[in-house]
Amino acid sequence: MPKDYFLRYVDEYVSEFNISPCYNRSVELAFFDEVSNKWRIETKNVLDGNPEVYVSQFLVVATGENNEGYIPSLAGLDSFPGDIVHSSQYKSGSEYKSKDVLIVGCGNSGMEIAYDLSDHGASTSIVIRSPEAKSTLNGVGIQENGFPQHWKGEKWLYCAGFTRRGLFGVSMDAKAIAEDINQAIQNRKKK
Ligand SMILES: Cc1cc2nc3c(=O)[nH]c(=O)nc-3n(C[C@H](O)[C@H](O)[C@H](O)COP(=O)(O)OP(=O)(O)OC[C@H]3O[C@@H](n4cnc5c(N)ncnc54)[C@H](O)[C@@H]3O)c2cc1C
Repeated sequence: MPKDYFLRYVDEYVSEFNISPCYNRSVELAFFDEVSNKWRIETKNVLDGNPEVYVSQFLVVATGENNEGYIPSLAGLDSFPGDIVHSSQYKSGSEYKSKDVLIVGCGNSGMEIAYDLSDHGASTSIVIRSPEAKSTLNGVGIQENGFPQHWKGEKWLYCAGFTRRGLFGVSMDAKAIAEDINQAIQNRKKK
């Protein structure tokens, strides 16, 4: 799908459902406050550094599986004379024309970067090993439930997008979470 279509879809989604996104906020801490029986989410405004606090009944964690860039410490990495670039820092293959480039990993990023490098005339190789599934959340009931109940934790905590099923998986989780929250609200109204 072309970038412009995707951006238009996101903009229309926001206006259709009357969503007010809080941009440039980084969540630093979230915990369930047993006194108020609500989630307390502490954030930092990344533009001015000011802290902000949000309080809510429901908390949906959708921070992505690959949010933090990580370069493992490999023997010999320190003395490697070439550039070492994490995929999150990669912009374009234009600066790698005619250069030898080794991609480590063949996930979405690795494959797309290899394609882009090849398009820009780099001599590209790719190292592949079997994927290793790793749980990113635990101790709060999430993930430990296992598919297909992986999205639901305790105390109205939810998570979307942690099953390595791409956008389809995120969408499945989001629908299940929305239905569960709606059900909880309806049940509360009946009481
Ligand atoms: C190069 C590439 C190509 C891909 N192609 C496809 C494809 O063709 N089809 C497909 O189905 N999938 C594809 N994927 C996978 C797809 O992008 C992911 O599955 C999807 O984006 C996951 O969505 P998400 O909402 O769970 O997480 P993300 O899209 O990663 O969103 C997580 C968001 O949480 C924010 N965040 C993280 N931590 C914090 C914090 N502490 N405070 C505030 N915000 C925070 C991040 O800034 C980010 O905006 C591709 C991925 C890559 C990298």
